[in-house]
Amino acid sequence: MLGGIKGMLLTMVSTIKGFRSPVTVQYPNEHLPIQPRYMGFPALTWDEKVGEPWCTGCMVCIRNCPTLCMSATMMDNPLQQDGKSHRRKIVDSFEINLNRCILCGICVEVCNFDAIVMSHEHEMSTYERNGDRVDLIGLLEMGKRYQKETAWVPPSVLAKEAAAKAKKAEEQEAKEPVQEGSS
Ligand code: SF4
Ligand code: SF4
Repeated sequence: MLGGIKGMLLTMVSTIKGFRSPVTVQYPNEHLPIQPRYMGFPALTWDEKVGEPWCTGCMVCIRNCPTLCMSATMMDNPLQQDGKSHRRKIVDSFEINLNRCILCGICVEVCNFDAIVMSHEHEMSTYERNGDRVDLIGLLEMGKRYQKETAWVPPSVLAKEAAAKAKKAEEQEAKEPVQEGSS
């Protein structure tokens, strides 16, 4: 009996709280902020320094995609031939059929070139069966928006920075004299 009354009181309190400050919004007129680690549709990144995609068209992501929704071709990189880029090969064409993408993130995990990200794009529904086939230009536009929004730093750069920091801390620790009598 007492337990039942407690339960009813709890429900009433949380209902009143919910009326005062609702946790939901009137979508699609209102949007909740997207969390930084939100995984939307995959997109390709743009190398601002060189002025070309990070993607070399190596096909690793395409071979690992469980839904086979990606395709790409590569070409010799003209900027490398001019000495402006370190990438010998560069992506020539790329397409993802986002209707078939299951947002698993495997393509991002397996890419060795920081070339693909799970962007914040999510409102991309269409009425056509093939309405979400996005080409290289579209994927790069999505990627550029994501890079700008999140002040994106390539994961390989972050990993190098973290390794250097850890090494420095280790060296510092080794230099510090061991205190006698300390346990
Ligand atoms: S996104 Fe990465 S893994 Fe996929 S083709 Fe481009 S470089 Fe290769
Ligand atoms: S997120 Fe998964 S399903 Fe979507 S393109 Fe990448 S590997 Fe394929």
